[in-house]
Amino acid sequence: MSYVDEVFDLVVAKNPAQPEFHQAVKEVLESLRVVIEAEEEKYRKDALLERLVTPERQLIFRVPWVDDKGQVQVNNGYRVQFNSAIGPYKGGLRLHPSVNLGIIKFLGFEQIFKNSLTGLPIGGGKGGSDFDPKGKSDREVMAFCQSFINELYKYIGANTDVPAGDIGTGAREIGYMYGQYKRLTGLYEGVLTGKGLSYGGSLARTEATGYGLLYLTEEMLKCNGRDIKNKVIAVSGAGNVAIYAIQKAKQLGAKPVTCSDSTGWIYDPAGIDVDLLKEVKEVKRARLTEYAAARPSAEYHEGKGVWSVACDIALPCATQNELDLEDAKMLVANRCFAVAEGANMPTTMEATEYLQQNKVLFCPGKASNAGGVATSALEMSQNSERLSWTFKEVDSKLKEIMVNIFHNLDDAAKKYNMKGNYVAGANIAGFLKVAEAMTAQGIV
Ligand code: NDP
Repeated sequence: MSYVDEVFDLVVAKNPAQPEFHQAVKEVLESLRVVIEAEEEKYRKDALLERLVTPERQLIFRVPWVDDKGQVQVNNGYRVQFNSAIGPYKGGLRLHPSVNLGIIKFLGFEQIFKNSLTGLPIGGGKGGSDFDPKGKSDREVMAFCQSFINELYKYIGANTDVPAGDIGTGAREIGYMYGQYKRLTGLYEGVLTGKGLSYGGSLARTEATGYGLLYLTEEMLKCNGRDIKNKVIAVSGAGNVAIYAIQKAKQLGAKPVTCSDSTGWIYDPAGIDVDLLKEVKEVKRARLTEYAAARPSAEYHEGKGVWSVACDIALPCATQNELDLEDAKMLVANRCFAVAEGANMPTTMEATEYLQQNKVLFCPGKASNAGGVATSALEMSQNSERLSWTFKEVDSKLKEIMVNIFHNLDDAAKKYNMKGNYVAGANIAGFLKVAEAMTAQGIV
């Protein structure tokens, strides 16, 4: 049996009931097959793949907190410190009822390659909790965040592990966590990113993932003889990534016509009104029905359906496995020619293969959504320097990073005779840097 297959079987056997983690590992290892097989003996002797798929440290802890009725609630807290070969662990905290160890491991594993692709010195980690901030009062969210940090603070720090936001963790949650970390340690340091501007946050961090997605998409199109101007874009999600992807798409002259949340979706053929979407989601924290009620050109539909809308470009920006084979078939039938992932692993493996077979340009999230973590690393640099860069400075660095990421994976795909296969290109380019650092640092 080949080394790659052996390691994949080992991952399934050693990590039962973690399908998302298996899926993420399979996708990466399949892409690496050509690289690993060229030097199989060396990698096998060093157990490099076994070390790569095994987190350096996994923390699971109890998070007790008191709700507004005086009832004690208990959630699970997680932090997976996956790989620190090229820098301190870096990756977000997801607060969502679906969170479990397997989800955090899939996200942490993806983060290793994503962070490597940015070219910045950051290792891979991820964390979170099955706590659901939806419907909770600010006081309840604060109580949860403080209790979460009461345990996590022992394991994080500006030079060891720097968490950030993700689904359910926005500026409010980061603020409460940062305040508690400071109170416990007495340190005013860049231990979390996504902070508010008045206490060490970076301009353009809020916009970074969505803007970065569009910078990379624009470059991918350009290198394939296409222009983003006037293209119709289907976007899923209505959170941080989706909102700023829609905003930048409009600035670049494209027309985003959809968005969605966990209960329904909007089709707005006149183009999504970003200010209204922000008001509904960021300010009121309300459902998309409120968008439709305020916008005569918009239709609201219950359930899932964004990918049935005719579009040139699809940007899945909600959650994992939200674009499946049936969706991919609808996109191809409607002549969609490019898909770039804003969320982490939103496209199933079957859907990805179908899109690639049908010559749809496809960029995986670990490359196309890396703008968020890249700008988080820029926030870390500003915190270390005790400086704040202007929005323009951060945004232009972000753009440069996203364009470089695209060329990095495009070059890697070409080098290994897989021109246009950006999934393989991203995995290979991300892997080679981490593997070199791991090898140089010995058996640790
Ligand atoms: P948010 O919490 O801001 O928004 C998530 C959006 O997706 C919301 O509209 C939410 O609906 C919807 N959603 C979440 N879970 C589900 C589900 N199970 N089914 C259907 N819809 C769902 O998160 P972000 O925008 O920050 O993150 C979106 C994705 O992007 C995630 O995969 C995340 O890991 C990834 N990502 C985020 C980065 C960042 O900087 N924020 C960086 C890189 C990747 P509702 O409004 O109903 O909750």
